[in-house]
Amino acid sequence: MLQLSKEETLALRDKHIGKSCQLFFRKDPLKIVRAKGQYMYDERGDAYLDCINNVAHVGHCHPKVVQAGCDQMTTLNTNNRFLHDNIVLCAKRITSTMPENLKVCFFVNSGSEANDLALRLAQTYTGNKDMIALEHAYHGHLTSLIDISHYKFNLPGGVGQKEHVHVASLPDSYRGKYRDTHYKKEEIGKLYANEIKEICEKIQKEKGNGICAFIAESLVSCGGQVIPPKDYFKEVYKHVRAAGGICIADEVQVGFGRIGKHWWAFQQYDVEPDIVTMGKSMGNGHPVACVVTTEEIADSFLRTGVEYFNTYGGNPVSCAIANAVFDAVEKENFREHALVVGEYLLDSCQILAKRHKCIGDVRGMGLFVGIDVVQDRLSRVPDNKCAQYVLQRMRDEHILISIDGPHSNIIKIKPPMVFTKENVDEVLTTLDRILKEYRHNTEIYTINSSRHKKTADISSNKEHRPRKQSKDKIKSI
Ligand code: PMP
Repeated sequence: MLQLSKEETLALRDKHIGKSCQLFFRKDPLKIVRAKGQYMYDERGDAYLDCINNVAHVGHCHPKVVQAGCDQMTTLNTNNRFLHDNIVLCAKRITSTMPENLKVCFFVNSGSEANDLALRLAQTYTGNKDMIALEHAYHGHLTSLIDISHYKFNLPGGVGQKEHVHVASLPDSYRGKYRDTHYKKEEIGKLYANEIKEICEKIQKEKGNGICAFIAESLVSCGGQVIPPKDYFKEVYKHVRAAGGICIADEVQVGFGRIGKHWWAFQQYDVEPDIVTMGKSMGNGHPVACVVTTEEIADSFLRTGVEYFNTYGGNPVSCAIANAVFDAVEKENFREHALVVGEYLLDSCQILAKRHKCIGDVRGMGLFVGIDVVQDRLSRVPDNKCAQYVLQRMRDEHILISIDGPHSNIIKIKPPMVFTKENVDEVLTTLDRILKEYRHNTEIYTINSSRHKKTADISSNKEHRPRKQSKDKIKSI
């Protein structure tokens, strides 16, 4: 196939691809031409360690997943109005990992489609429209979802908050409204959940109707890798149901065994959502997603008499791929692996936090970890400059991380599940070095500015360094 130079690719992209489709590392974007396991390779053959691609769940181009897709593509691909084994076997598999009542599946093509359908199901079932979502949450790019995604509608150029949308505080006990510095750990979940109760009561009082649904990720990713307090969802579900609403768990980012202990992150809270949505990791990069719900909710949708048809949703190729991803997670023990490597990652981050005051908090579960970068541990003021510096410098070192959260100061680590302890060592040794470098540069900057001398440029270190496999362990740095 014709291979364009990076400059040609950029020029064509500039001309023909909508500029709002943004690239990672906009100043000098990466051109990735192939990938394997937890590594991505650019056009020069340089390897990058991928710490952000939770979509390539069982590893980029997993051979059995690729084979399953190829085999099915050479045999048949058509829509799900014909009987086919792949879709029913996939549905059986998904529902076998869920609470008993969640037994009906609708297959779609993306996380956004899944959440949009979840909203439709909720509206049909409850007859209500008012939605409650979390501050800084993201649930997809469709209009219906931008409306409930504070992360997007609240931007300066965003569409703003619609009348049927209600935003509850992010249940963040580190930096949120109810912090562990001022409240007992055991009361924080209830305090945040009470806000949902108040929202429900307000809707009932002012509008005279119940609510439609509460939607949240079971671990909040765009909000900054936030782990809600243990009893939060239990309390919230109680209030929402009392107000006639249903509860939707968005597992698009955090499902499919990423947290290790459970298949789905909601399972750790001992709650039963009415609808669960999944996507991303389900197809290991292939577009396939799913909505799982109860018979009661699915039947109410049926009773509208409006048929649900989705041309590509649940096609034999997508389902062959999803089944192969399931196989890989099970046969290659990725959940156990996520537990072991995830614990090692968290421990290593804690050790790093002892060496760097700018690490205010380390949180996570399995292979879903966040490092909260602060200016000062006491005030917990976020340091997005430092986080941005780390992001760029890690890229120079050929390690891909991302940053997120309301203040863009949370380093996110959510790699393919094939990530190893050696990878952890490499990431943290490099991060240790970069944080030292940042501190050093900042000190020079401070000294120089106080003497009114030429200041050091700490915004980016342009020097390119090829990625080296590190043998050091974080324990010994
Ligand atoms: N829900 C969550 C939590 C997501 O993170 C995303 C995508 N980042 C979506 C839904 C939407 O998924 P998609 O991009 O596949 O439409």
